[in-house]
Amino acid sequence: MQSPHFEEWFAALGLLNAPQRKQVQQALLPAAGLDQIIALIDKIRAPGRRCPRCAGARCHRHSQANGLQRFRCCACGRTFNDLTGTPLARLRLKGKWCDYLTALLDSLPVRTAAKRVEVHRNTAFRWRHRFLDWVKFDRPERLTGIVEADEMFLLESQKGSRKLDRPARKRGGRASRRGISRELDCILVARDRTGQTINAVTGRGAVTATHLTQHLLPKLDPQALLVSDGHGAYRTFATRHGIAHEAVNLRAGERVRKGTAAAIHVQNVNAYHARLRQWLTPFRGVASRYLPNYLGWRWALDMGRVTTIEQLLGIVISVIHI
Ligand SMILES: [Zn+2]
Repeated sequence: MQSPHFEEWFAALGLLNAPQRKQVQQALLPAAGLDQIIALIDKIRAPGRRCPRCAGARCHRHSQANGLQRFRCCACGRTFNDLTGTPLARLRLKGKWCDYLTALLDSLPVRTAAKRVEVHRNTAFRWRHRFLDWVKFDRPERLTGIVEADEMFLLESQKGSRKLDRPARKRGGRASRRGISRELDCILVARDRTGQTINAVTGRGAVTATHLTQHLLPKLDPQALLVSDGHGAYRTFATRHGIAHEAVNLRAGERVRKGTAAAIHVQNVNAYHARLRQWLTPFRGVASRYLPNYLGWRWALDMGRVTTIEQLLGIVISVIHI
């Protein structure tokens, strides 16, 4: 709209009655959401903006599309925008993303999120896993000092799958056998005393020394003291890689051993398990194939690590994954 027309139109706003004002406000709401998310994306990207194809740092503005500025790379000549190559590329309804990010911060189940953001529940579900796709890669570089490690188990779930590779469970939620079995997904959690945490889904059944080598070793400081329960896999792993190790014999009722400098126990990691289990409850069972996404989501929220949509969006679109 040309400037004189706009001024005329804007001056007339004062004449609106209350219902008309509300109507105008609602019409502008999606645009406000769009402006907010575009500004956030720009703020996150601008300081280190690079061509996603050749990593060239020099680029110039090159028209706009779908609300986003496009850039042309000076080195390779290709055009890109700030979401090219991220899980959010080409995702629509940007005006609702801020509300959706808030729904993620609030840990809302799909239907509740869909209602709040005013999208179809299938969209809310699809968005959940697009938004979380890189969140699962956001992990600390290193666990240092005393590192507690322990596994927790969740009932394996093929929720949402068209074909089950086993008979359906009647009335959901129970394994047919007691103890650790192939019916359970094993989640390995390791947490150091500064609160840095990694976790990994190691598959069905008990954790092995090979799993520990694969998931724990790359993150474990060579000087760390690994503390675990009496499970043999930890001892084998520690011996194999020359890592200092203390085992707490939980079966014999031992909870805390007074070490020389600090108490030896796995209570921090077990508390993490408890928070994770409780947080998962409203989701009413999550599909095993999506479990890594939920673990990343939980880690983002644990102990208020991520509290704003800007921080969360930063992880959603900027994590360099392996
Ligand atoms: Zn380039």
